[in-house]
Amino acid sequence: MTVALEEYRRKRRFGVTTEPKGVAKPRKRTKKLRFVVQKHRAGQLHYDFRLEWDGVLLSWAVPKGPSLDPSVKRLAMHVEDHPVEYAKFEGVIPAGEYGGGTVMIWDQGTWTPDDPDVAKHLAKGDLKFTLDGEKLSGSWVLVRTRGYQGGQSWLLIKHRDDAASTADIATEAPRSVVSDRLLAEIAFEEGGDVRQAVSADPPSAVEAALRDPRTKTRKRKRAPAVWHSNRTK
Ligand code: MN
Repeated sequence: MTVALEEYRRKRRFGVTTEPKGVAKPRKRTKKLRFVVQKHRAGQLHYDFRLEWDGVLLSWAVPKGPSLDPSVKRLAMHVEDHPVEYAKFEGVIPAGEYGGGTVMIWDQGTWTPDDPDVAKHLAKGDLKFTLDGEKLSGSWVLVRTRGYQGGQSWLLIKHRDDAASTADIATEAPRSVVSDRLLAEIAFEEGGDVRQAVSADPPSAVEAALRDPRTKTRKRKRAPAVWHSNRTK
């Protein structure tokens, strides 16, 4: 695990960012494996799709986010493993740091590989699995494409099942599943770049929030387990 997180740690200054360093303490192996999708407005908007496996989060950056439509293949760039604690990170990465911008926990839940030999399927570039999240569920596949960007390029595809849909989930369900916030609200409350963050929220959701007379008093699900940057500004 220490080796697996070297690249993750090398890219970050933990005295500056509030992202977790990742302690060398693998979670107890329980029956359920965690997955998380983090909407990340950094230099460019993307959705970080992470599957817990073998003490780390296997990670893919999906520029357009997952689609529920089986006819849509979404590019997913395989990136470095992240610590399992990263699944609870929602907040602001300071400007100028690696991945600087605003991070939202867009979906979370558990996942199950179709075949328990995940290492074999990762090596083969064909990983089939089932998600049980709040926005994403049912059967999915990650398949590696050939000869593009040094083997880091995969496609994330929904399989046909009851959870498949042509609904635009990214637009229809844009809020955090742990804090019910839009990206702009996370940035505002945690001292981030609100202008940058709001550019990645669906305009319809921003308009609805601004029109809502309860905007200032709206009750939110609080998420005590989520790391927040303790900025005072
Ligand atoms: Mn990211």
